[in-house]
Amino acid sequence: MQYFPIFLDTTNLSCLVVGAGEVAARKVELLLKSKANITVVAPWACDTVQGLASENKITFHEKSYQESDLDNIQMVFVATNNSETNIQVHAHATAKKILVNVVDNTPLCQFITPSIVDRSPITIAISSGGVAPVLLRYLRQKLETVIPHKVSLLGQFSEKFRELVKQKLGTVTQRRYFWEDVLDGDIAENIYQGKVEQAEQKFLEKLENPDAELTQGEVYLVGAGPGDPELLTFKALRLMQKADVVVYDRLVSPEILEMVRRDAEKIYVGKAKSDHAVPQEQINDLLARKALEGNRVVRLKGGDPFIFGRGGEEIETLIDQGVNFQVVPAITAASGAASYCGIPLTHRDHSKSVVFATGHLKDNSINLNWQGLAQQDQTIVFYMGLTGLPIICEKLVEHGLSSDTPAAMVQSATTPRQKVVTGTLSNIQKIAEEAGIRPPTLIIVGSVVSLHKKLNWYDEAK
Ligand code: SAH
Repeated sequence: MQYFPIFLDTTNLSCLVVGAGEVAARKVELLLKSKANITVVAPWACDTVQGLASENKITFHEKSYQESDLDNIQMVFVATNNSETNIQVHAHATAKKILVNVVDNTPLCQFITPSIVDRSPITIAISSGGVAPVLLRYLRQKLETVIPHKVSLLGQFSEKFRELVKQKLGTVTQRRYFWEDVLDGDIAENIYQGKVEQAEQKFLEKLENPDAELTQGEVYLVGAGPGDPELLTFKALRLMQKADVVVYDRLVSPEILEMVRRDAEKIYVGKAKSDHAVPQEQINDLLARKALEGNRVVRLKGGDPFIFGRGGEEIETLIDQGVNFQVVPAITAASGAASYCGIPLTHRDHSKSVVFATGHLKDNSINLNWQGLAQQDQTIVFYMGLTGLPIICEKLVEHGLSSDTPAAMVQSATTPRQKVVTGTLSNIQKIAEEAGIRPPTLIIVGSVVSLHKKLNWYDEAK
């Protein structure tokens, strides 16, 4: 390891920056995150440096560099566009045993600055030693996505109670188990949700009685999106990976189920059309029961839990039974299908509003406000409408839409199984039948569908 990573306490550290152009300014801005005293020396300065100087955040000496500028300095960044000056400052600093970094000139750096993921007080610093900057950027992006932003709140919480825990719990092992429980459980969840007071109360109770078993779990009602795992939210993924039990249905794609914590108990409650695998009341009770037994239960649903997802009914039962829960929104099928088919749901030239409607058949009819739906400059997206398609087309025409109105059927949107067919209200049924369109399928009706031909970008199953 050529570069040994350390974290430097910058309290009372005197730091000099030689140069005051844009490159130097970026270093100064970075340094300002620390507590170092910053002095900048240069014959002229860019607006950023001048601004910082006038706000007294740094000291700026408007003059050429000279060796005496290094007096009482412990660390120096060199960022002038004059390579001779850069070499000279490096030589002076090395002779005086001052830590020196010549920006973008690794051979003249006694130390280098890492890439930072800042969740203060948690700070992650990574470096490739200057040899693989693009790989480094890629890795940093990965870290940014997997480490929740609110980890900083957990960090602050830990800081606040560290001493108290030390006083109460005698051994390192005891403290480790205690903190592991806290950071992986409902106390951490409360903090993530901003319920810090509630978290503190639970924390203090737990500290008084650290060995008590977790008496009650929680339910996370998580939207899994339309199918493509990359459309999951960070929050969905985080909760999926800490689940003890996952209750999922047919619309959750196999690729997404793969991402649930390996040893979670997985319970399928899927519903196929006219074949209710598990009645809704039983699902509601199952969620409550599993949570009351002390489990972290993820109720994983296709799309968004609150759009034709019966999420409302499920949490009502949880409220009745006093079970804590969270709801995690997601990309609904209409949104996913629209994007992946190149059919904008609204468009200045085509549609001023969009309506999501259910095309579910009850006693062979669909009870909807057809008059309200059949509007010229409106897009209508029907969920669960495959069987009812003939009725949908018939009713829309009966209530005033032209039989030439464009319509699309989108099967398994956003997945490798996506298939789209387009036509009009008069022929879409025949076209869908010929193409063998199968559930899950959305129907999109409206003039925006005509844009599909031009805006379509996603390679779909043939
Ligand atoms: N909560 C879900 C909808 C559940 S209702 C959401 O927000 O998306 C079930 C209906 O959603 C299906 O009948 C189908 O019409 C639609 N659907 C869900 N996922 C889909 C997908 N990937 N492609 C097309 N339609 C989908």
